[in-house]
Amino acid sequence: MDCIFCKIISGGLPGKIVYEDEYAVVFMDIAGDVDGHMLAVPRKHVKNILDCDPDTLNHLMAAVKKVAVHCTENCGYDGVNLLNAGGESAGQSVPHFHIHIIPRKKGDGIDAWPAFPGARRKTEEVYEELRMTGDAG
Ligand code: 5GP
Ligand code: ZN
Repeated sequence: MDCIFCKIISGGLPGKIVYEDEYAVVFMDIAGDVDGHMLAVPRKHVKNILDCDPDTLNHLMAAVKKVAVHCTENCGYDGVNLLNAGGESAGQSVPHFHIHIIPRKKGDGIDAWPAFPGARRKTEEVYEELRMTGDAG
């Protein structure tokens, strides 16, 4: 399969690996857009959260948690942003599931939260489409 992240995982392409275990790998993003930008990926090739089985997802999140705690306990950071795009419509550009990890320090001035344009529809109306529970009183 012609997948950049599979190649980084297998060593076929160079990658600055921060953490790895049996199920997941965390490496530096090449974007150079913000200090400490990392990507956490499952070793298993799945496209995104939509086709990811629960075990793979759990292992990936366990790796994300380890790296997040490492950043705060050992590297002088105070927190992390986790970002993910699931599908092209959501902005996913590399079709191998990845969670962006951005380590944060108080006052670092990084804006890692999207500036949303404002809802176009009433929350109640969208809620009726989205809800997975039956009528609650
Ligand atoms: P997405 O837009 O799919 O959420 O994020 C894809 C990310 O992959 C981007 O942040 C981009 O910089 C990163 N990326 C693309 N190609 C490579 C590569 O060859 N090596 C690494 N380390 N990161 C890459
Ligand atoms: Zn892949």
